[in-house]
Amino acid sequence: MTARIIDGNALSARVRGEIAVRAAALTARGVQPCLAVMLVGADPASAVYVRNKVTACEKAGIRSLRFDYPQDADPAEVMSRLAALNADPAVHGILVQLPLPPQFDEAAVLEAIDIRKDVDGFHAENVGRLSQNRESFIPCTPHGVMKMLETVDVKVAGTEAVVIGRSNIVGKPMAMLLTNAGATVTVCHSRTRDLAFHTRRADILVTAIGKPRFVTGDMIKPGAVVIDVGINRLKDGPDAGKLCGDVDFESAKEVAGVITPVPGGVGPMTITMLLENTVISAERAASARDLAAGK
Ligand code: NAD
Repeated sequence: MTARIIDGNALSARVRGEIAVRAAALTARGVQPCLAVMLVGADPASAVYVRNKVTACEKAGIRSLRFDYPQDADPAEVMSRLAALNADPAVHGILVQLPLPPQFDEAAVLEAIDIRKDVDGFHAENVGRLSQNRESFIPCTPHGVMKMLETVDVKVAGTEAVVIGRSNIVGKPMAMLLTNAGATVTVCHSRTRDLAFHTRRADILVTAIGKPRFVTGDMIKPGAVVIDVGINRLKDGPDAGKLCGDVDFESAKEVAGVITPVPGGVGPMTITMLLENTVISAERAASARDLAAGK
């Protein structure tokens, strides 16, 4: 059996097209969606992520503002910019690219963002709302995974889902979303004793580990849906320098029913969901404005 492959690039292009239509409709109402992106320091990967986010905004008709700070930036200066962006009604989304340099208290910075503009969904209040299955901004990567499951018609309710990884940005919100959708969820991590025991039971397996080709075909239940969030660069061997996921795609695709590739799987969906969250925020702002004007 060879698994059906979910094409994250194609899905992303389709969803971004829908987002561009919503952005244009908002702009016609006088509310152009706007995302402010803050980059502190000179981490090369962060610089690439920020550039990709800004370019994706432009293509979708979303205005973007970019604020760059040096590695030795004064946290007070960044916090003061955040306060100004919170107060600016023309700004609908605020994103602080992580990681931040050591002089910053990351949690304090994330919590300084107005929760109505927290399009990354990392503010503790948004995390709490997600855990209670209430309206919130959903972190972009796990949100993208749910969108992928939806488009391939995977019925999540009643399934056994296993998430490998317990980070705040992927593993934990992923587990919450799957729980909210009715799956029975097991979260595995670096201290899990018998990983394969859990993965072999999974109807839906999501990997967010950061270890190249770590999950092999023999760890997968036949017919399972395998979503690979990992993005790793191979250091040696014939494929040195190439990107790969946490899943050994070649062996896994012979066992799984549905699988995502790396690159071209979950990766493009992350920025897509950031654009969607920004548009959602702008739609809420436009409705609030109309309500206040008695429209
Ligand atoms: P992280 O380092 O914060 O978390 C990794 C998790 O893997 C930890 O919870 C750890 O307990 C677990 N883990 C480590 N070794 C393990 C082992 N041997 N067995 C079981 N669990 C183990 O990483 P993260 O930020 O959650 O990212 C995970 C991966 O996803 C990385 O490759 C990252 O690049 C990628 N990522 C991709 C996107 C995207 O847009 N597709 C977004 C965010 C992260």
